[in-house]
Amino acid sequence: AKAEGKDTFRYFEASMGAQARDRRILEQDLRQAVARGEFRLVYQPQKEISSGRMIGFEALLRWQHPERGEVPPSVFIPVAEDSGSIAQIGEWVLATACKEAATWKNPLMVAVNVSAVQLHNPDFSRKVHEVLLRTGLAAGRLELEITETALVKDMPRALATLRQIKALGVRVAMDDFGTGYSSLSNLRAFPFDKIKIDGSFIKQVDRNDQVATIVRAVLGLGRGLGLPVLAEGVETLDELRFLDAEDCDIGQGYFLGRPGPIEAFGELTGVSSAG
Ligand code: C2E
Ligand code: CA
Ligand code: CA
Ligand code: CA
Repeated sequence: AKAEGKDTFRYFEASMGAQARDRRILEQDLRQAVARGEFRLVYQPQKEISSGRMIGFEALLRWQHPERGEVPPSVFIPVAEDSGSIAQIGEWVLATACKEAATWKNPLMVAVNVSAVQLHNPDFSRKVHEVLLRTGLAAGRLELEITETALVKDMPRALATLRQIKALGVRVAMDDFGTGYSSLSNLRAFPFDKIKIDGSFIKQVDRNDQVATIVRAVLGLGRGLGLPVLAEGVETLDELRFLDAEDCDIGQGYFLGRPGPIEAFGELTGVSSAG
């Protein structure tokens, strides 16, 4: 039994070593991915619920790894954040989303996810300004999506950055609302322009009284604070009907439109695969 335990431990050690090695390789691959052109953006519609009118798109990052195929952001974003390559990747995302949005025939919004590392860079708002000037995108068409976990590392720093961004005319949305540790205090402490209710609260909102009560409370909060509320992860007609009946402003989710290459939305953007 003792020998067996030892073997198990060796096996454990070996597999940990393999995992660490695997992660180091992933980190190295990530550092070169921008230069190698392995990233692209897909876009997901955000629509006014009462009318179905398109408001804009959230830009979502996709990584096509040469050997592994498409690696999901839930896997590579945390690695990029820990290893620091998120700074360079985040700059690529922001610049690419603004450059692409500037060419659309309709002046729709583009929402870009911003990580903690970017937000805590004292140069961040200057970089945003530079990208707007370089791409010609009107500041009012850009929205930055920020999770509350991205705020907490250095709250005074994050607050200063948010104020600078807003002074440019760029809007900021609180992403994944309700999943953090102190959503309410963060909502009060930071000058957000929009609340994005996390998709986990929208799942079964039409069928679960407890979830429905929570979502109604968030919608009331938004109304009271004068902030539009966007519901993420709308997957069914019944969920959409509930949100419409409760006067939720904006919806995003598979039922309203799956993320896709911008060419898939050519009638709105004028971007065609031929061009
Ligand atoms: P997120 O910001 O909450 O983005 C929404 C995620 O929900 C996206 O996953 C989207 O494809 C997915 N989604 C949309 N509608 C539905 C639906 O109806 N049902 C379900 N189950 N899911 C839906 P994705 O693209 O895999 O991105 C995952 C996360 O990775 C994002 O969550 C965001 O935190 C991060 N991420 C993606 N792109 C970027 C980026 O450019 N920069 C940074 N820093 N993070 C990013
Ligand atoms: Ca987001
Ligand atoms: Ca979200
Ligand atoms: Ca989420």
